[in-house]
Amino acid sequence: MKFTLVPEYIFDKFNDATPEFLVSIGVKGILLDVDNTLEPYEHAEPGIHVIAWLKSLERAGIRTAIISNNNDKRIDLFNKNIGMPAIARAAKPFPKNLRRMMKEIGTTPENTIFMGDQILTDVWAAHNAGIRAILVTPINDKKDIFTRFKRVLEKPFLRKYKKGKK
Ligand SMILES: [Mg+2]
Repeated sequence: MKFTLVPEYIFDKFNDATPEFLVSIGVKGILLDVDNTLEPYEHAEPGIHVIAWLKSLERAGIRTAIISNNNDKRIDLFNKNIGMPAIARAAKPFPKNLRRMMKEIGTTPENTIFMGDQILTDVWAAHNAGIRAILVTPINDKKDIFTRFKRVLEKPFLRKYKKGKK
């Protein structure tokens, strides 16, 4: 079990995590947040870059699945044409649905990674499930007070990540 909120990897965009990179770190399955990780809230469906990236992962033999705290309507529509295994209302940072999904796609904590844009839901959920985490820069960060507060809380963990990379 990893108790730290420091992500193992930070990328700017989802597709900076190439299939080659993921294979090189032993990943056989990637669990994905949707909102602000793959697309902003306003985009109901995945764009061409998301679809191309998902296909490249599939070709590399990497399983993909959605784990979102958003509602069924949002996730059903987003997933309509790609048909990935998906769990909406996932209650991240609790690890239950990450574990459920690993069982469904046949991966283990050792060969699974989580990708999301929020430390206090995505990275925490990943580490609660004993898996590694990739943090990406939120595509379209909200400017409301709650989001800004969350970003302030994330700062020390981002600093720790940068220090560890030096
Ligand atoms: Mg998100």
